[in-house]
Amino acid sequence: MKKERVLITGAAGFLGSHLCDRFIKEGFSVIGMDNLITGDLKNIAHLLPSPQGEGQGVRSFQFINHDVAKHISLDGDIKYILHFASPASPVDYLKIPIQTLKVSSLGTHNLLGLAKTKKARILVASTSEVYGDPLVHPQTEEYWGNVNPVGPRGVYDEAKRFMEAMTMAYHTYHGLETRIIRIFNTYGPRMRLNDGRVLPAFIGQALRGENLTMFGDGSQTRSFCYVDDLVEGIYRLLMSDYVQPMNIGNPSEITIKEFGEEIIKLTGTKQKLISFPLPQDDPKQRQPDITKARNILGWEPMISRSEGLKITYAYFKSLSKEELTKVEHKSFGGYKK
Ligand code: UDP
Repeated sequence: MKKERVLITGAAGFLGSHLCDRFIKEGFSVIGMDNLITGDLKNIAHLLPSPQGEGQGVRSFQFINHDVAKHISLDGDIKYILHFASPASPVDYLKIPIQTLKVSSLGTHNLLGLAKTKKARILVASTSEVYGDPLVHPQTEEYWGNVNPVGPRGVYDEAKRFMEAMTMAYHTYHGLETRIIRIFNTYGPRMRLNDGRVLPAFIGQALRGENLTMFGDGSQTRSFCYVDDLVEGIYRLLMSDYVQPMNIGNPSEITIKEFGEEIIKLTGTKQKLISFPLPQDDPKQRQPDITKARNILGWEPMISRSEGLKITYAYFKSLSKEELTKVEHKSFGGYKK
């Protein structure tokens, strides 16, 4: 029997590559699309044809190097589209702001058009950043957010808000089958070591014997979800009939200072947390209200932070010295002081 086909954009990225694995495991044939601007083929190397012979997933996987902000044409049927292409760290938005805006606006429009042509169901990756620096805590899906459109995060936040609006318009106007997930901070193997995000930053610094760069006094909070939990939530949302935005994340909230202390303990580093100025518009608190995911999808995170951090640390420890010392961003990661 011919396998059903799924298109995953951002396939060579952190989340996209884990989704490719999951959909191949579920018996789908996956088309992975990425322009490799922040993604890395290394994340899907195990799925690509190799000189040693066929990889485990190779017959179920095809890679296309393409920027989804440009017109997309694909032959054949597609059952599902998952739009996960986008830079996803504040440092990246500052480095490539126009691409960040385009991938979630023009890119989403192209993918919605493709979904309409193929009669495919589409799930788009939105973000807790649509809540901005939230004035409601924890964040429910009904909260409209507190976003600065012209601040450094505006290029990401507003593009994702546009993505949600456009997706909903295709649903109401064209009757397209759409799903919108709002993803909260997620971590796990295949995160880019030097993308400026707090977890790879802290672990990388500990492994290199550097002090840990804590922004502000570290009293700001985040809630970290392990990637396997997130992927399970995405899969369940896609297969459900729920069309309103849904939060998926781990409600276990922690201050960045406490988080840094956890990383110091985990890695056994002798280094310390050193405070640097807080970047502009850095949200003070973030925690998902996952009542909807619990009630509608029967989903909740299963992997504790201590368990997830152990697996993630083992991954970063396995990287070569060359990868570990490759510096994309110094502390402040490109933020202007
Ligand atoms: N952060 C930090 N040190 C770093 C990188 C980030 O203290 O080297 C802080 C950052 O200011 C923010 C939190 O950690 O308050 C999470 O930052 P990240 O960039 O990982 O994600 P986001 O702010 O988008 O949630």
